[in-house]
Amino acid sequence: MTDDSALRLYIFDADDTLRRTTVPGKPCPHRLGEWELLPRVHERLSAMDWTTLRLGIASNQDQVAYGHMTRETCHALFEDLIRAAVGRDVPEAFIRFCPHALEVECECRKPAPGMLMDIMRHFGARADETVFVGNAPSDEEAARAAGVRFAWAWDFFGW
Ligand SMILES: [Zn+2]
Repeated sequence: MTDDSALRLYIFDADDTLRRTTVPGKPCPHRLGEWELLPRVHERLSAMDWTTLRLGIASNQDQVAYGHMTRETCHALFEDLIRAAVGRDVPEAFIRFCPHALEVECECRKPAPGMLMDIMRHFGARADETVFVGNAPSDEEAARAAGVRFAWAWDFFGW
């Protein structure tokens, strides 16, 4: 494992990294009560010092484009997720999601690095201060394209 002391921005994928959907057949939750935290997420994130570290979410949410939920609901679900994971609100957290349909070409959907770059720019964080935690090859590819460190969710949370 490499040295973590230089890291100050932790960006997380959401679905199957921090949370899982509890409704069979749904790839991601569409409303309150349709998800739960994955194991050890709360233990790990509640033990980190978010007064000095910075927290971002970068998630593909094409379900918004297909009308399964509004952007507002999608954002609120991420706020709930952060609150559950950390154990309190983190108002400074920066949430980015790609709301576009799969057939639409955009610069945000992972594996494109757009969302990671936005979050780094928002916090003024350099690539060597940033890690992206995810569970999919598209997450790893996005991290590589953004030039940041990547950690698999199962390594980061010790599953
Ligand atoms: Zn997009």
